[in-house]
Amino acid sequence: MKTLIIGAGGVGRVVAHKCAMNSETFGEITLASRGKDKCDQIAGEIAKTHKVAIKTAAVNADNSQETAELIRKTGAKIVINVALPYQDLAIMDACAAAGADYLDTANYEHPDEAKFEYKLQWAKDALFKKAGRMALLGSGFDPGVTNVFCAYAAKHYFDEIHTIDILDCNAGDHGYPFATNFNPEINLREVSARGRYWENGAWVETDPLAIKMVWDYPEVGEKDSYLLYHEELESLSQNIKGLKRIRFFMTFSQNYLTHMRCLENVGMLGIKPVDHHGQKIVPIEFLKTLLPDPASLGARTKGKTNIGCVFDGLKEGKSRKIYIYNVCDHEECYREVLSQAVSYTTGVPAMIGAKLMLEGKWKQAGVWNMERLDPDPFMDELNKQGLPWKIVEI
Ligand code: NDP
Repeated sequence: MKTLIIGAGGVGRVVAHKCAMNSETFGEITLASRGKDKCDQIAGEIAKTHKVAIKTAAVNADNSQETAELIRKTGAKIVINVALPYQDLAIMDACAAAGADYLDTANYEHPDEAKFEYKLQWAKDALFKKAGRMALLGSGFDPGVTNVFCAYAAKHYFDEIHTIDILDCNAGDHGYPFATNFNPEINLREVSARGRYWENGAWVETDPLAIKMVWDYPEVGEKDSYLLYHEELESLSQNIKGLKRIRFFMTFSQNYLTHMRCLENVGMLGIKPVDHHGQKIVPIEFLKTLLPDPASLGARTKGKTNIGCVFDGLKEGKSRKIYIYNVCDHEECYREVLSQAVSYTTGVPAMIGAKLMLEGKWKQAGVWNMERLDPDPFMDELNKQGLPWKIVEI
């Protein structure tokens, strides 16, 4: 077996470590990214801690042909895309052309438009079916594990699910006045966008961060949680039977929001180039240069994340409410794979999705979202691979 991982950021590091820790499934592993240096650094860590040698390469994944050539050269049968959402379509095309399966953790976005939807990725279903290959979309935590929690609740706990609230809490402290826990550009574009949720067959829009609730997160405590639009709402609203409402909430501290609003008010979140002394500069790209690299936060972050779903519905005619969640500790993640919990909770499910595809447990032709597949083997792997979950009736 041969595996290609594209992207050597915070998430790429976790995927590479975890694939190496499961090398009997992933075989010969190549880690490629725009620059080879970061790949070499991660390969060095893995050789030291796991005694596994992985190969490295440079690739511009915006270029589909170049990526297809790399897939052929490495002989990879699966590509785990943990570069940026901008590269999704080009890497999907490369996989279909070179005869490899594809997996990502984030919905395609165009760099010039702060908007994401599955339309263009779903449109590649026929291409993947024709190639006899599988594309698994959104195999991170949210999307990813949250979709699997939904499929698991639907399979084992409910005849009908009526409402789902996805609750994402990061109570980690990195000690900086302001930093983002994953790619700042992607993170700030998502948080500053208008809110949206799905109810009774229609989308309801809100001003950014206009709806707030306080949730008591197990092992973390009460946190302000704000309604955001999040990509899994698009597929789950179509795939969960009997659903009446689905929403997504994320926690933010007042400090984070004050910094973000200030940056937004002065134009630093802009995605269109501005003229600066004769040079064209995209404000949010410049801001990314100024902010701490998320991959560097691991060593300093303390505290926990808690991500889960609250379900409400019917089982055998009776109403029922359950909460499925995972708690992850930043410092424990760092000890295991030299990354903080946000990268860990994304990278481990990416590895698990790929593992199930390679083992034939999740093998299908075409383009798939997570909740359409059998949740049981994925839920088992979460417990074995470092992301144990709990279910409580509430
Ligand atoms: P980083 O910015 O830390 O890393 C991205 C990596 O991709 C970098 O190594 C970067 O290289 C590389 N890259 C960027 N452009 C190209 C290109 N054209 N060709 C090849 N490589 C490229 O991001 P993260 O690791 O934090 O996030 C990775 C992905 O995970 C993102 O898509 C993010 O949206 C997703 N994510 C998903 C979550 C989920 O739960 N589903 C949660 C968190 C993140 P360079 O260093 O040269 O820029």
